[in-house]
Amino acid sequence: MNFSKSEELHKEALEHIVGGVNSPSRAYKAVGGGSPVYMERGDGAYFYDVDGNKYIDYLAAYGPIITGFNHPHIAEAIKNAATNGVLYGTPTRLENKFAKMLKEAIPSLEKVRFNNSGTEAVMTTVRVARAYTGRTKIIKFAGSYHGHFDAVLVQAGSGPSTLGTPDSAGVPKSTAEDVITVPFNDLDAYKEALDKWGDQIAAVLVEPIVGNFGIVEPHEGFLQGVNDLTHEAGALVIYDEVITAFRFTYGSAQQLYGVEPDMTAMGKIIGGGLPIGAYGGRKEIMEQVAPLGPAYQAGTMAGNPASMAAGIACLEVLAQDGVYEKLDRLGERLEKGILEEAAKHGISITVNRLRGALTVFFGEETITNYEQAEATDGEAFGRFFKLMLKQGINLAPSKYEAWFLTTEHTEADIDQTIDAVGHAFEEMAAK
Ligand code: PMP
Repeated sequence: MNFSKSEELHKEALEHIVGGVNSPSRAYKAVGGGSPVYMERGDGAYFYDVDGNKYIDYLAAYGPIITGFNHPHIAEAIKNAATNGVLYGTPTRLENKFAKMLKEAIPSLEKVRFNNSGTEAVMTTVRVARAYTGRTKIIKFAGSYHGHFDAVLVQAGSGPSTLGTPDSAGVPKSTAEDVITVPFNDLDAYKEALDKWGDQIAAVLVEPIVGNFGIVEPHEGFLQGVNDLTHEAGALVIYDEVITAFRFTYGSAQQLYGVEPDMTAMGKIIGGGLPIGAYGGRKEIMEQVAPLGPAYQAGTMAGNPASMAAGIACLEVLAQDGVYEKLDRLGERLEKGILEEAAKHGISITVNRLRGALTVFFGEETITNYEQAEATDGEAFGRFFKLMLKQGINLAPSKYEAWFLTTEHTEADIDQTIDAVGHAFEEMAAK
């Protein structure tokens, strides 16, 4: 495969755009460097780069593209929005329709508000939780990503539950000190944090199924335990469902486990590929938000007609019979094939899969928390990533990300992917 046009474009981008990319995860830093591939067009499960190479895609733009690229129903909705004047700065009926659809799909959302990104959605839930409880500190789980606002760019210290330190330059130490980080799936450590700081905690941020250090499910009882302990401490539970909403079922991860948070933040899939964020929750909490309450949140683009139309269209596709069963079937086939190839070539991997999303970790240990994910072999993943790319299979360029299936992948795509995995493992085993 020839990547020369991508390489040229990356060289040019480096002159004008910081690091050549508009989001750091797009750079190939975590897979040994090199120029990222520049895509030109996507259609169904495939996309095509500027050099004319075709790929089967499992990046799904980091999650949103669950119905594949250029889905006719969504494309039509976006075209209509574009020719109707794009943006008005007034309410539209689309916002009501979409809010009702979200509420019907996720019963814990008594009231919702739309904004423009997952970051904005999570950021606002934290503000609202602080407004509602009159408290400042928040708890998050190590390795979970909640966007790029100051309070969540915080790393754990070395203890089982620790006050945070800034994970990015520019985040004030005082902000990080309001964040406590606890290992995922460790209820004892969570209890310990609440024993220490419980009366100062406004909320806990939870990715109910982790997507940001690979796909990691909660242990049985973990989410319920977090809910019970948090409420005992008078704090709120916020689910960050930016990845998980409509990824595993029509609705949210909270429904899969039967545990209701006080607030939920969403993004990605609910925008059908356009920028979106949304948050919602219990009525009396949401009524803290302006213009009803004292917590401020606003946005020129919030609830914009194109994102609303694309989101509604996307949910209409996902509401059809058999969608999630198909994603599960394809996921199972892919997982089985990858494991068989690994066994054949003597490559040590662990696959974490839930329905149509999976992560291949290079290592043998079971992965239930960030520390374990961190210990897997990033160099092996980097080699694997590039060997797959050269065979026309596009994965996320990081050992911590998921492979996302779409409604448009076919069994033949899966089998072609498994073949490519076999070739990649063969080459890796030879060296
Ligand atoms: N929360 C989670 C769980 C995410 O995975 C992400 C993005 N990967 C965000 C929040 C931030 O969303 P956005 O990039 O749309 O700001």
